[in-house]
Amino acid sequence: MTETPQSHPLLAELRESVQSGLPSAISDLGRLVRIPSVSWDGFDPAHVAASANEVRALLEALGVFDSVVVSTAPIDAERTGQPAVLATRAARNGKPTILLYAHHDVQPPGQDADWESSPFEPTVRGDRLYGRGAADDKAGVMAHVAAIRAFVDVVGTDFDLGLVAFIEGEEEFGSRSFANFIVQHREDLAADVIVVADSDNWDTETPSLTVGLRGNVTFKLTVSTLEHASHSGMFGGAAPDAMLAMIRLLASLHAEDGSVAVAGLTSRDATTPDYSEERLTEEAALLDGVRPIGHGPVLSRLWDQPAITITGIDAPSVVNASNTLVPSVTVKVSARIAPGQTADDAYRALESHLTAHAPFGAHVEISDVDRGNPFLVDTTGWAVAEAKDAMHQAWGRAAVETGIGGSIPFISDLVTVFPEAQILITGVEDPDSRAHSPNESLHLGVFHRAILTEAVLLAKLEGRE
Ligand SMILES: [Zn+2]
Repeated sequence: MTETPQSHPLLAELRESVQSGLPSAISDLGRLVRIPSVSWDGFDPAHVAASANEVRALLEALGVFDSVVVSTAPIDAERTGQPAVLATRAARNGKPTILLYAHHDVQPPGQDADWESSPFEPTVRGDRLYGRGAADDKAGVMAHVAAIRAFVDVVGTDFDLGLVAFIEGEEEFGSRSFANFIVQHREDLAADVIVVADSDNWDTETPSLTVGLRGNVTFKLTVSTLEHASHSGMFGGAAPDAMLAMIRLLASLHAEDGSVAVAGLTSRDATTPDYSEERLTEEAALLDGVRPIGHGPVLSRLWDQPAITITGIDAPSVVNASNTLVPSVTVKVSARIAPGQTADDAYRALESHLTAHAPFGAHVEISDVDRGNPFLVDTTGWAVAEAKDAMHQAWGRAAVETGIGGSIPFISDLVTVFPEAQILITGVEDPDSRAHSPNESLHLGVFHRAILTEAVLLAKLEGRE
């Protein structure tokens, strides 16, 4: 049990201001949702530019920033990234600087027919606002804007806290120019605390602070046994085919219960909230009679243990299958890495396992290796304590520290360029938000509480000595 935190002296005033500002926050969010700012190739970049301009106008209207610009950075020698919005206000009198991150681009909507209301027509049904980007992540953008509005409404514009808003324009397309952007604007972006508002909450009544992200290692694995294909009737039974060798090699990656069996891949020892196998069965849509794999608490399997999945295979197709021994097979291996291990280290463990376990002396070749490091928030920093306290005050419930089974790749770029900054991964989503899917939506109660949380956090940081 966590004790109820002491109320911030400005809590009541901030609460009232957030409450009365909510209708305009929702209508501004609706205006952003109407702009189809899909950042993928093949979609009109004019919409992403329009949405950047709209965000710039929202930030300018706050009247607290020294500078608000729309800016781009190169992806490589030929290509330029999508426009981001960067707003800065220098700290005074030794106060900390807080950077608020969100992204204004969205995923493609998919088929309109799969949506109950049109994806770019913001629509309220019940407690929720539906539309592409209504949650991911235009609500993150508006949570920052609305929190600053409430903060300014209560303390005025003459405050000392340093404030940076960085609203990216291509998070949904791999943040391709992100690393270059933050190096280019290193001075403007420097902050003591970075709030990444692009994650979710435990449920609509319970806030989460995301503190762990698994890393990943992916590569192509080719197993070869023969110089050329041979008739399976002629040599089958004595000459090993590559498919047999590949199947046996892949089978060696997991134990009987489906957990990873690769020496050198580590797990993180941490307690996780309760989450039943029944809930997993339902949320991951396991077929009738299919059992979960792995061992230990379910969330430790998803957050703190490694996982290995074969996500593709190049082999003769069934329709083209002839009676031959296949000489060579290629698969795509996708491994998730537990926090606490570097992706390089994990790759070396996988490589030596695959080399050591190749059956029948089969040749093993690994290529196209991609690595992303796991990330663990240092929860001993003061910013984590302040954020959890702000969440508790705004939601009336203690925050759950959660992990994510996947990765937010740009976080490692942030940590590389700003190793001293304390990173807080928050968000406005909940388990029913369906980000990236049809009928994406924002729970308006969560939105309300997320805004209040951030307004309280700003007030707390302004008050720090
Ligand atoms: Zn997002």
